[in-house]
Amino acid sequence: MYYEIEVIIIFILGLLGLIVGSFSNVCIYRIPRNESIVFPASHCPKCSKAIRPFDNIPLLSYILLKGRCRHCKSKISIQYPLVEFLTGLIYLMIYLIYGLTIQTLIYIILSSALIIIAFIDLNHQIIPDVISLPGIVIGFILSFFVPYISFVNSALGIVVGGGIILIIGLGGSVIYKKEAMGGGDVKLSAMIGAFLGWRYIIISLFLGFFLGALIGIILIVTKIKKREDVIPFGPFIVLGSLITLLWGEKIISWYLGI
Ligand SMILES: [Zn+2]
Repeated sequence: MYYEIEVIIIFILGLLGLIVGSFSNVCIYRIPRNESIVFPASHCPKCSKAIRPFDNIPLLSYILLKGRCRHCKSKISIQYPLVEFLTGLIYLMIYLIYGLTIQTLIYIILSSALIIIAFIDLNHQIIPDVISLPGIVIGFILSFFVPYISFVNSALGIVVGGGIILIIGLGGSVIYKKEAMGGGDVKLSAMIGAFLGWRYIIISLFLGFFLGALIGIILIVTKIKKREDVIPFGPFIVLGSLITLLWGEKIISWYLGI
């Protein structure tokens, strides 16, 4: 492909990622509050003043406003530009690996849904069924039409993904006498399995557990969190699955090579 076209595609996809990331912020704020994600237009959560389009440009407005509301000067969470940046970045990386394919299209939609889920779980310790349940169905149906995953692999992904978390959750609740992993994690894992298949969901969960344990230990040692604090697991499943979605084949060949 011509170099110029490549640059234009990268520019458009990066921009699209920033815009979708901006919309993801609306979803992250409103879905757990059961508010409409369409109406009303964006407003400051502190002073309720409507945010003008000029102040609602992804990344740029946050920098120009120095992270504060134009009206009441209250701090805007760093989470807003972070979600926009992450979404733009993941779109570009997916494109650079999978090119102009249907797989890229589906993976950028999936990654957006996963980023929304991860931040809702971080903020509220819930994983919304309105995303994960349709996600399982959509992932399975798509597997009949796309070339890169079979419906058998998708079905196995749902069973293996949901099953592993279910078994660990049940085991954990017997040992610790409290809910270690909720039903939300089971449905999230099943959804990722539906899109990525049984091999990738196993790698995703393994990475998720590893990163969760590692970061959990760091948070406790640095006294940012206490041992008894709840650290949601959903964001780590998402992180593991995004890494796997990008570099799954590399991870498998590395693992088989050692
Ligand atoms: Zn304000």
